Amino acid sequence: MALNVGVIGTGMIGQDHIRRLTQVLSGVTVVGVSDIDLERAKMAAPEGAQIFETPEALIASQMVDAVVICSWGPAHEAQLLACITAKKPVFCEKPLVTSEAAALKVMQAEEAHGSRLVQVGFMRRFDGDYRRLKAVIDGGTLGAPLMYKSMHRNASVPHDLYTSDMPLNDTLVHDADVSRWLLGDEITGVEVRVPRRSKQGGDLRDPVMVLLHMGSGAIVDVEISVNVAYGYDIRGEVSCETGIAALPNRPATVITDQFGIRQAIPEDWRERFIDAYDQEFREWIVAARQGSATGPSTWDGYAATLVADAALKAANSGAFELIEMCNKPKIYN
Ligand code: NAP
Repeated sequence: MALNVGVIGTGMIGQDHIRRLTQVLSGVTVVGVSDIDLERAKMAAPEGAQIFETPEALIASQMVDAVVICSWGPAHEAQLLACITAKKPVFCEKPLVTSEAAALKVMQAEEAHGSRLVQVGFMRRFDGDYRRLKAVIDGGTLGAPLMYKSMHRNASVPHDLYTSDMPLNDTLVHDADVSRWLLGDEITGVEVRVPRRSKQGGDLRDPVMVLLHMGSGAIVDVEISVNVAYGYDIRGEVSCETGIAALPNRPATVITDQFGIRQAIPEDWRERFIDAYDQEFREWIVAARQGSATGPSTWDGYAATLVADAALKAANSGAFELIEMCNKPKIYN
C-alpha cells in the first residue's frame, strides 16, 4: 500500500519535492498540500490531492500517513510538534528549527514519544560521492582524519532576500552536518574569518571562512562563497594520517571548442544533488511506512542550530566560540 503524504509549503523546494514524490518515486502518493498562500497550494497540488487551509488540518487528517515540511524555517517548530503529537513520521527540510530552545522542545517531544519520527533534509548524506568518501574514511586504510576542507560556492544569491547572516545560519548548516557525519564527530567550537569582500556580493559579507573544531581535535575549514558567478561548486577533501580522500568533480561531458577543453558545472543545488534528494526520499518512504525515520535526525538538526548560532557569534566577536551540547537522548544512538 502506498504511503499517503501531505506536503506543507509549496514554494521552490516544496514544488520540486512534489514533482519527485509524484513523478519519480514509487510507493508514495501526495494526498494533500497546504501553503500559507492558498493559490500557490492549488497550483502546486497534484491531481486528486486535497488543499488544506492550515498545516494543522493537514497534519490531523486521517488520510495523511506522513508529512513533508517545506515551509520557511520559523514555521517548522510548531509543524514538527504537531506531527509528533499526531505520531506521524515527518520529513522536515533544513533548518530543523531556528533556535536552540525550539530544537530542545522538538527533541523532548520526540523522546517522550519513545522513538524517532523526524528526518531532516540534509541531502548530502544520500549523495553517492559523499557516501563513497565516507566509506573510505570509515574503512580506516588512510588512518585517522585530521583535517577536512569543505568548499561551498553558489553562482549567486538573491540580493533582496539573502542577508549577511545567511552564509552562517543558512548555507553553513550543510557543511557542518556533513563534517559531523563524515568524521563521526561532534563540533565543539567555531571561529569565523571574513576576508576581503567580493565585489559580486555588493554589501554582503561574502566570502566567509569558518573553522569548525571537532571533539577529536580534527579541524574543518569551510569556505562559503555565494556569488562566484561561474556555477554551483561543491568540493571536499579529507586529510588523513597516511593519505587524502576527496570528492570527485562531477563527471560531465568534455567539450572541446575555440574556448578550450572544459566540463559543464551544475547551475544550482537542484542539479548537483538531484539524485541525493531522490535517494533521501526513497529511504524516508521505507522508514515512514514503518512509522519511523532514518538518516539525519532531530539531534543532527539541533547540532546544526548550535553551530549556526555559534558562527554568528564568532563573526561578531572574532573569537573562538564554544559549543556545548546537551546529553544525547538514547533514541538518537
Ligand atoms: P520558499 O520558496 O519561500 O517556499 C516556502 C513556502 O512555504 C512558501 O510558499 C511560503 O509561503 C510557505 N510557507 C511559509 N510559512 C508557512 C506556513 N506557516 N505554513 C504553510 N506554508 C508556509 O522557500 P524554499 O526555497 O522552498 O525553502 C523552503 C525550506 O526548504 C526552507 O526551510 C529552506 O531552508 C529549505 N531548503 C532546503 C534546501 C536543501 O538543499 N535541502 C534547498 C532549498 C531550500 P510565502 O512565500 O507566502 O511565505
